[in-house]
Amino acid sequence: MKKKILSVAAAAACAISLAACGGSTSETTPAETTTAATAAEAEDSKADEGAGEETSAEETSAEAGEAEAAGGQLVMATNAEFPPYEYHDSSMTGPDGSDIVGIDAEIAGAIAENLGLELVIEDIAFDSIIPELQSGKADIGAAGMTVTEDRLLKVDFSDTYATAVQVIIVTEDSEIAGPDDLAGKLIGVQQGTTGDIYATDDFGDENIERYPKGVDAVQALTQGKVDAVIIDNEPAKIFVGDNDGLKLLDAAYAEEEYALAVKKGNTELLDQVNQAIQELKESGKLDEIVDKYITAD
Ligand code: GLN
Repeated sequence: MKKKILSVAAAAACAISLAACGGSTSETTPAETTTAATAAEAEDSKADEGAGEETSAEETSAEAGEAEAAGGQLVMATNAEFPPYEYHDSSMTGPDGSDIVGIDAEIAGAIAENLGLELVIEDIAFDSIIPELQSGKADIGAAGMTVTEDRLLKVDFSDTYATAVQVIIVTEDSEIAGPDDLAGKLIGVQQGTTGDIYATDDFGDENIERYPKGVDAVQALTQGKVDAVIIDNEPAKIFVGDNDGLKLLDAAYAEEEYALAVKKGNTELLDQVNQAIQELKESGKLDEIVDKYITAD
């Protein structure tokens, strides 16, 4: 089945773009990481300059990096319908002060803090995240985003920070036992995700029902409108836990890796993000964040 091929494809994506999937962090110079100071200096010099001095303001921004040009903010584009990576929880306050919480939100919060920038989270449709980065409206995409060859043509990816599996959810009484049984069945997916892309490839457009949110696809499954849902394993566990009568199949559909995305060519921000990820990994903070949101089973 596709599983192996997809795994190889994911690995190949990393191999093609070494900088995107590891290995680049050691090249990052410490000069690029003095961000809190740099940002503070940039703010100071802006305040000193007054309104008429466009040129020196531009120079300051160029020195401080593209994110700084957005006015001391790090704008994160996400789709907050993907627990435990990003979701709304009114009982918690997220790193940008909103109710958007989760692993990606916290990672982005830590990166913003590292860079001396204020995190702003934009909650948009999953398939709008890449266009938002391309147009420069957002600085980073943090959305449990899988590194794929196609996406690497449009954005640059950071080092990976999590592995994931596309899994299959079915009703408890379903005869579907693995990926091969999905042929000819109606499969629910979240629009624009790798679940959508791979399943469309494998089983044909006519067998795919697309929903704006993963949870909508799961709802459709409980209502008998689709025969199975293909979605990332961590949200899948939560959705199955929240709904009676559903089960996760043991057989994985595809294996993949998550990374943060930035506008193509924005190597300065990419290096800063990779540096921050590296620090989060080395300090144990990344594990801490993951443990806060995912309990080992
Ligand atoms: N990992 C999947 C992808 O990148 C789904 C991400 C999501 O739904 N937020 O397409």
